[in-house]
Amino acid sequence: MFNIILLGPPGSGKGTQAELLVKNHNFFTISLGEIFRKHIEENCTNKTFIQKYIDNGELVPDNLSFALLEQFIQNTPKGKPILFDGFPRTMSQAIFLNEMLNKYHTKIGCVILLDVAYETLLQRLKERAIIQGRADDQDDQKIKTRMHIYAEQTLPIVRYYQEQHLLYRVDGTLSTDQVTKSIEFFFDRLL
Ligand code: AMP
Repeated sequence: MFNIILLGPPGSGKGTQAELLVKNHNFFTISLGEIFRKHIEENCTNKTFIQKYIDNGELVPDNLSFALLEQFIQNTPKGKPILFDGFPRTMSQAIFLNEMLNKYHTKIGCVILLDVAYETLLQRLKERAIIQGRADDQDDQKIKTRMHIYAEQTLPIVRYYQEQHLLYRVDGTLSTDQVTKSIEFFFDRLL
């Protein structure tokens, strides 16, 4: 079984789906967003550096993200598939991920894109701001920045994976359960 990438704009449900999929499948999952939030909570040495980017809704620079990602891949037991939640988000990250997977003799099996309309995303982020209290969901400007980064930097990688016939679109506006089932439908056929 090969590795999976979950792609989608902020609020598309990547984290929720990753959690559910990991329960039913034999994956390791990595979310840099989660790792960064943990670094902040636990007052790690690079807390202030990371917080500045997350609080502004900007991407954390590649040198730190790449180091964390490689560490994670290195520590994953050989042969165990990885579910990448929210990585890559830029073309340079997509290229780095290919290099890393090659280095560790593995590859991408499929890329799942969670499709959700802009208005629905805004609504969900506002709800999440109340429920989870994430600072980057609580300010319209920060949300706008994240959406802009998605459109400018992440959408090109959607095309990149589409050209490699790795991309599968799932309607992310369906119920949580239905989205999981749609993703698993692709897994059954592909992995
Ligand atoms: P998420 O939990 O995926 O919504 O990510 C929250 C924040 O973590 C993002 O707005 C970025 O600041 C940072 N982050 C998450 N994934 C990445 C990534 N692949 N590259 C750089 N920064 C990231």
